[in-house]
Amino acid sequence: MLFARPGAGKSTQAALLARHLGVTHLSTGAVLRDEVASGSALGQLIAPVLERGDLVADELVVPVVARRLQAAAGAGGYVLDGFPRDLAQDTALAAQFPGAAQPQVAVLLDVPAEECRRRLLARAAVEGRNDDTPQTIDHRLALFDTDLLPVIERYEQRGILVRVDGEADRQVVTERILARLATP
Ligand code: AMP
Repeated sequence: MLFARPGAGKSTQAALLARHLGVTHLSTGAVLRDEVASGSALGQLIAPVLERGDLVADELVVPVVARRLQAAAGAGGYVLDGFPRDLAQDTALAAQFPGAAQPQVAVLLDVPAEECRRRLLARAAVEGRNDDTPQTIDHRLALFDTDLLPVIERYEQRGILVRVDGEADRQVVTERILARLATP
């Protein structure tokens, strides 16, 4: 499981790690953006939520994640990217996946908010994601502090949190993560 501020390189690192480890990369942001792009009923419902940078309601996200996570756990494992986002989602994860399907390690990819903001504004110019506007970026960064930090503290207390400095080239960051995962 990978925690990071938006713009820290979470999905990039999750994809590289999943490939390296030979497991499924499960990005809730990507799954939700695909729903929007498909024009499905769920996609139409959540499109404005994503555009505002708010969190999609648990009753919509949790079943989508649960289905995919179950399949990925059965197929050898996963790198979970973007879930849980708050304590309630973490509690739902624990309730739905007792035992072997539970995450074994939580990586916090540490990049300061100002650097994330700078990277997201640069990404906006290239990718044109409609939640990469200055106002929405600030909102998404604030949600990291209010909603995700308590989850990160929970994993720290459980003793399975690994902090990795994410301010480097992507290959260097991947190597840092893999080195920390290899250390018992
Ligand atoms: P991300 O790609 O992780 O930055 O997520 C992009 C957007 O998808 C977020 O700003 C939320 O609107 C939505 N999202 C992603 N993951 C979740 C989640 N676990 N719970 C609720 N909303 C989510």
